Amino acid sequence: MAPALSQPIVEMLRRVFEELKLLYNYATICEARVVSIRKVDTQLGEETRTRSGRVTRSEPRGRRCGICGTAGHNARTCEMDVETSGESDSN
Ligand SMILES: [Zn+2]
Repeated sequence: MAPALSQPIVEMLRRVFEELKLLYNYATICEARVVSIRKVDTQLGEETRTRSGRVTRSEPRGRRCGICGTAGHNARTCEMDVETSGESDSN
């Protein structure tokens, strides 16, 4: 009498348990993925930080060429000045 009813219940419990197992495995996989994504994200963030720092370091504050306006050299070492001065002298 009783076993006829208990069998489907046991099957249901087995299915539920299997589903829970799958969910647990999926959760662990998702957690590992999230951890790996976080690691990559932090690495990318550090790279961008170092890159931006380099850019800000390479750019001198207020020191720009007075002739062409480009940072990195002075009006004395400007190549535009030499070219323009030579042309103006010839003309
Ligand atoms: Zn210049």
